[in-house]
Amino acid sequence: MNKDLKDKTLEELERIVVGLGQKKYLAGYLFKFIHALNGRDLATLSTLSKAFRAQLVEQGYFISQIQVADCLRDPDGSAKYLFELADGERIESVLLPDEDRLTLCVSTQVGCPMGCAFCATGKIQFRRNLTAGEIVDQVYAAEASLVPRPSSLDGQGAADSANQKSTLNNQPSEPRITNLVYMGMGEPFQNYDAVMRSIRILNHTSGRNIGIRHITVSTSGVASAIRQLAKEEIRPRLAISLNAPGDALRDRLMPINRKHPLAELMDAVRAYQAETGQRVTFEYVMIEKVNDTLNHAKLLVKLLRGLMYNVNLIEHNPFSGCEFTGSSRDRIQKFADVLKEAGVETTIRFRMGRKIKAACGQLQAGYEPAEREIRNKSE
Ligand code: SAH
Ligand code: SF4
Repeated sequence: MNKDLKDKTLEELERIVVGLGQKKYLAGYLFKFIHALNGRDLATLSTLSKAFRAQLVEQGYFISQIQVADCLRDPDGSAKYLFELADGERIESVLLPDEDRLTLCVSTQVGCPMGCAFCATGKIQFRRNLTAGEIVDQVYAAEASLVPRPSSLDGQGAADSANQKSTLNNQPSEPRITNLVYMGMGEPFQNYDAVMRSIRILNHTSGRNIGIRHITVSTSGVASAIRQLAKEEIRPRLAISLNAPGDALRDRLMPINRKHPLAELMDAVRAYQAETGQRVTFEYVMIEKVNDTLNHAKLLVKLLRGLMYNVNLIEHNPFSGCEFTGSSRDRIQKFADVLKEAGVETTIRFRMGRKIKAACGQLQAGYEPAEREIRNKSE
């Protein structure tokens, strides 16, 4: 069993505490210490007796902590964190300030096994799933860095630190992350249990208490997991990366479509909405002359008919070795116009963080593209 206390829901902590012969309510102190106060060292948890703390340590329990290996700030106000995990693997998270919201885009896997053709994360080798502890800790570590701490934030040049000050000083003294999107590295529904556990932990009122309506999970279309999510008691908002209105094109862009083709995906969304009454967001990355013609827009409207949804059109972000070009703003606008004329609520997202390679689909955490990609290129 994983003995990281950060990885546990309150109910799981209660079972551990009771299993050690202690009173159940003590689990509440532990949970609050870890998730509301970002407590890291059991030795400083003075509401538990010394003897109990020693017992926990003796039994191998600990509180994990990911390390900020680097933090890059974009002039647009966004920031990209490179985190190092206990086993040396690396992931990235992106902080996106927007008026009164502070959104963190979290990773769920090291790399991604889905291999979408237009995504930098899909080009690196999949290494492993994250634990729930590692997912929630992205929030705590990013938040901790928002409290001015000159030692780790200096040294990035005058422009950066000026930008840093303007971002930080406009916030309350301890800025808090208000929204979470599971849209960093990885496919959340290939790591379903840890993702749902992290959401239960982050949403809990005794912990970080992030409202469930402020949490969005984005999937490339794992239809079976969408059906499973419909049955959960606690459900985040659901976003689906569609990127093509027909199977032939989607097969080419997103290999998952060969396993869960569009008809199956749409059936799962219909079942999800019948069960939950919730609308979903479809994301559509705009790739020049690949999926961005007016005919694609019309086919998209047809495909989604009868669903409750909105569409986010995402400018394709470039990365080295990518075979695609992003659509021009003019093409994106014309595509959006077709959707809007058909009554579809449509938002165009011109992404933040491009200068620091923190925009959608640019996260590689310093890993090189997998060998198969390099081979393919030289063939
Ligand atoms: N794996 C999940 C969540 C992470 S990807 C998913 O695919 O939904 C988050 C979003 O980034 C997805 O909507 C994806 O389509 C988009 N994306 C991937 N590569 C991109 C790129 N190069 N430019 C813009 N968006 C991209
Ligand atoms: Fe993975 Fe999402 Fe990138 Fe596809 S778009 S490779 S599912 S991270």
